Amino acid sequence: KAFEDCGFSIALMNAIAKQGYEKPTPIQCQALPIVLSGRDVIGIAKTGSGKTAAFVLPMIVHIMDQPELQKEEGPIGVICAPTRELAHQIYLEAKKFAKPYGIRVAAVYGGMSKLDQFKELKAGCEIVIATPGRLIDLLKMKALTMLRATYLVLDEADRMFDLGFEPQVRSIVGQIRPDRQTLLFSATMPNKVERLAREILTDPIRVAV
Ligand code: AMP
Repeated sequence: KAFEDCGFSIALMNAIAKQGYEKPTPIQCQALPIVLSGRDVIGIAKTGSGKTAAFVLPMIVHIMDQPELQKEEGPIGVICAPTRELAHQIYLEAKKFAKPYGIRVAAVYGGMSKLDQFKELKAGCEIVIATPGRLIDLLKMKALTMLRATYLVLDEADRMFDLGFEPQVRSIVGQIRPDRQTLLFSATMPNKVERLAREILTDPIRVAV
């Protein structure tokens, strides 16, 4: 399996090469074709597996494929992560691939100025990476709308539940149109994560490494 088989544009292939990614990792080999086909996916994988690129690369393709959506406001891709540290790591990975396309990425999480994040979201973005509590706060403040969000990722879902974010996660998912593509990544699949996946994903394909 090679990145060439994914049908990525030259700009994206160049960005991948620039990162020094020579070939897809096992989770990328399994997940990329399915995510690119538009299906919902449950990915059972840990940090270090390359799972971030497995959802970030198809997100770039998804955003570039929807020019009619670009006229609206608010993020097209929404990524929820349990901690600031993880949200920041995803932000760095997303920036690398979004930059060549002029896709704007915002990261919003606790411990940083809410007003600055409010202003950043108001200025517009195509991708938002957020911890659940802060995203709820900013939604309440009307810093952003979810009207054009069609690509949702829940990363490290088991940790989000461990940290007590289940209500926030459910509230965020409830604000995103049901015809979205949804991806759920988790290192483990305890019952409550399994139940959430059954409720919010449509006919998902399961991949595990
Ligand atoms: P992640 O599991 O997404 O946190 O990724 C772990 C590390 O692997 C990060 O530093 C990535 O930049 C790197 N990485 C992701 N995909 C690849 C790849 N295909 N080849 C080499 N390194 C990669």
